[in-house]
Amino acid sequence: MLTIALSKGRILEQTLPLLKKAGLEIADEELNSRKLILDTNLEDIKVIIIRATDVPVFVQHGAADIGIAGKDVLLEHGANGLFEMLDLGIAKCKLMVAAKSPDYQQTGVLKVATKYVKSAKQYFEKKGQPCEIIKLYGAMELAPVVGLSHCIVDLVDTGNTLKANGLIPLDHIVDISSRLVVNSASFKTKNTVIKAWIKAIEKNL
Ligand code: AMP
Repeated sequence: MLTIALSKGRILEQTLPLLKKAGLEIADEELNSRKLILDTNLEDIKVIIIRATDVPVFVQHGAADIGIAGKDVLLEHGANGLFEMLDLGIAKCKLMVAAKSPDYQQTGVLKVATKYVKSAKQYFEKKGQPCEIIKLYGAMELAPVVGLSHCIVDLVDTGNTLKANGLIPLDHIVDISSRLVVNSASFKTKNTVIKAWIKAIEKNL
């Protein structure tokens, strides 16, 4: 039995065609149901649907053998106990610093609102900019506008969300895309089957 962890939203939408090309399909009735464990066309493969940030956690602990998660999520998790095997090249975007104006930097402590605490801390530490990270779970764009922070660190795709909230994308931290990760123990015990799936997916990228 092989368990694959996916998250709802853009990753699921863009992953399903890749899995289909590799020979793995999930029926619409399964996808549209409220089930969290989905059957596939293959009896020995199940798909679990969880929150994006939980994907590396399930894979790390072996509750899923394979997971597909954004690099942003993997950087925050730290990727302990799992191997990043494949860049799927989907759900591409950039992790960026955005603010109301280009001169957002402070001589004192810079207040940074973000969901990406680890990546943001690392980025500003490297630059030698003292910072206070304010952890938010959403609507980051609001923080500089209402004076909660000097800037934000968030994912940027088209830049429309920033623009709509009067923010400018400024510093590029890292390019993001979805990665296929494998539990390190599963990689040993189910090596042949996992490698075969990776190969089948990679062939169609
Ligand atoms: P945009 O307005 O196109 O720049 O999209 C920015 C919004 O979409 C932000 O709220 C991001 O958190 C989210 N977003 C953009 N790309 C991704 C992605 N690849 N994965 C997850 N969230 C994303």
